[in-house]
Amino acid sequence: MRRDHLLNQIREAPDKIWDFIVIGGGATGLGVAVDAASRGYSTVLLEQNDFAKGTSSRSTKLVHGGVRYLAQGDISLVLEALQERGLLRRNAPHLVKNQSFIIPSYDWWQGPFYNIGMKVYDMMAGKLGLGPSEKISREETLRAIPNLDETHLNGGVIYYDGQFDDSRLAINLAQTAVENNAIVLNYVKVTGLLKDDRNLICGVKARDQETKTGYTLHSRAVINATGVFVDDILRMDDPEAKKIVRPSQGIHFVLDKSFLQGESAIMIPKTSDGRVLFAVPWHGKVVVGTTDTPLDETSLEPRALKEEIDFILTTASKYLKKDPERKDILSVFAGLRPLAAPRDNEQTTKEISRSHKLIVSLSGLVTITGGKWTTYRKMAEDTVNKAYLVAGLPEKQCVTANMPIHGYVKNIRFDTPDYFYGSDRDNIMEIIQQNPDLGRKLHPDYEFTRAQVVWGVRREMARTVEDFLARRVRALLLDARASMKMAPRVAVLMAEELGRDQSWADSQIKEFTRLAREYVLED
Ligand SMILES: Cc1cc2nc3c(=O)[nH]c(=O)nc-3n(C[C@H](O)[C@H](O)[C@H](O)COP(=O)(O)OP(=O)(O)OC[C@H]3O[C@@H](n4cnc5c(N)ncnc54)[C@H](O)[C@@H]3O)c2cc1C
Repeated sequence: MRRDHLLNQIREAPDKIWDFIVIGGGATGLGVAVDAASRGYSTVLLEQNDFAKGTSSRSTKLVHGGVRYLAQGDISLVLEALQERGLLRRNAPHLVKNQSFIIPSYDWWQGPFYNIGMKVYDMMAGKLGLGPSEKISREETLRAIPNLDETHLNGGVIYYDGQFDDSRLAINLAQTAVENNAIVLNYVKVTGLLKDDRNLICGVKARDQETKTGYTLHSRAVINATGVFVDDILRMDDPEAKKIVRPSQGIHFVLDKSFLQGESAIMIPKTSDGRVLFAVPWHGKVVVGTTDTPLDETSLEPRALKEEIDFILTTASKYLKKDPERKDILSVFAGLRPLAAPRDNEQTTKEISRSHKLIVSLSGLVTITGGKWTTYRKMAEDTVNKAYLVAGLPEKQCVTANMPIHGYVKNIRFDTPDYFYGSDRDNIMEIIQQNPDLGRKLHPDYEFTRAQVVWGVRREMARTVEDFLARRVRALLLDARASMKMAPRVAVLMAEELGRDQSWADSQIKEFTRLAREYVLED
């Protein structure tokens, strides 16, 4: 997956009519590119920033059916998500872990629903289930989560769901798409839509954000998979188009693992304002979240609000023996859900269905939004099924249900810090064998090596220090202060690989430090 090589393929074929152009390189767009390319359609995907820079690197990291949607009675969404959970675990076993969750039962709220509810959840997963849920005693609950608050604790329910690394999956999907002959490019922004004399969309205008070079690309169909930005593309098509998305912000923060001992995650099904809160082990730390705050603005770098941070701190303190404080937060990150715009002022964001929405405009623009990371594959299948009709292309069957994703390895062990590379681990080892200096760590407290930076540039299309520290490895999200210390070394290594000079490295360090400061809370 080399950017210059892929860009050349576009440059060398200025008159080519591609089958599909996909706008957006998050979970949705990458899924569509993999689906379309693996069916044999010629496909180009354009992402304005880095892959998964938007919502797709900012999730709770769960591959789940959604216990909350079950409680809301959204059965078809849960069924679909449980099916997809099973397929994703099978196709990307190097990224999706089977994670046990404990729902603690306190005498101030209803445990019984969840005893029965989780049995229904198991049944709905059928053969793709990850393990049977069970009611557990107070002692068993405390054994699983030793630092759970014991006051008024009755017992709990244990159940199983998937846990993953979102931006790593995005990178692996980009690689899978390229292996199936798609062209996927980061840092190429779509700036306009091309229309023919019947007013039908027949391509896009795009700009390389690095060189500022403009491109005109022709295609039979264009797919708008831009998450919370879908309305901007719909307005390029029709300036009068009604908004279909209302962003809803969710934040998470990351704590040291000492706040959640044991291997299990905690799931609080109903917080004081009716939301769900998770505390999930992730890469040796704990991710806690999330919130659901409607916003009017979209942004690639949304900021956590003070009231969101206070809400999670207060809620987590109710369940944990050791109360987390602002100074304990290693990193805080926010993401925007692309929710369907509410029907009326009465409907709250947590009531809006998480099902995906597929729209074909009069011009033929195909727009896909909503949904979840977990269901990205099904969303892609539905989208391509619609898009080939719009494009007037011959039908080709979807093949992704049983298709391994790049990095696939059987019998993966999750006890090495770099397990998430899957089959690429050996290639990184080889880089170290050729140059042992690259085996040195980037930070004394973390296992990330210099070789991973080299690999990220050569094979995973990392273009900036942020791409590497935020999405090729997750240092920015795991410990923002430590990631700032890693930045100078990463910048020098990247400059060497990319053929850039010291002033590029200096400006990268400056830019990354400015960003990482936003992930740290001042006391
Ligand atoms: C707080 C939170 C927690 C979540 N937790 C979970 C979870 O645990 N499990 C789960 O299954 N789901 C979860 N989700 C949902 C999931 O993360 C999203 O459904 C999914 O990431 C959306 O992906 P997307 O590709 O549609 O959007 P995005 O990831 O935002 O991708 C859209 C992309 O389009 C690009 N773009 C925009 N305009 C242009 C343009 N003009 N040219 C080129 N590119 C453009 C953007 O740069 C962006 O990268 C969560 C969501 C949030 C917010």
